[in-house]
Amino acid sequence: MGVRVSGRGLSVKQRPVLDEVRALAPRALSLVEGYMGRSAGRVEVMVMDLGCSHDLLVAVHQELLGTRNLPTHRWEHGAVFGHTTFSASESLVLLDAVRLARQPGELPPTVVHEFAHAVQFARPGARELAVRYLGDDYGLIRIGRREVRKANRETARDEQEARDMEFLADQLVKEVA
Ligand SMILES: [Zn+2]
Repeated sequence: MGVRVSGRGLSVKQRPVLDEVRALAPRALSLVEGYMGRSAGRVEVMVMDLGCSHDLLVAVHQELLGTRNLPTHRWEHGAVFGHTTFSASESLVLLDAVRLARQPGELPPTVVHEFAHAVQFARPGARELAVRYLGDDYGLIRIGRREVRKANRETARDEQEARDMEFLADQLVKEVA
């Protein structure tokens, strides 16, 4: 269904990250979709400082949860290169321009990894479940302990699946270079 790539507030040093993501993204998505046997639907990629993504993410979460009252300081990123979520109409892949400018070798596997998460969100029921877990994260609803354990297992499994797909980055780089 295609992928759109844009940058937000990039410095001159971070600009090459955007250029490379633009060059790799279409083929990366088709490789991942081919491997997983499912379309991700529409994917929007934003190259930005992940440390400045709080407001954006809270806006997306508010839309998903149908509320306007989420705290803006809630979201914490660990030492990651990317983060994938979704809006009502598409998958949303945020790539960290700061870290990727410092470690350009991480860019191809990161794009593959995050696109794998985008395809995971396209599975039947995956988004509904993610919204439910998100509501629990924010304390809007309470899910039971058994469901929390199930959610943690699924998150770990999805994370492993995305990691296992990073080998596609070698082929991606060879094809697009
Ligand atoms: Zn991941």
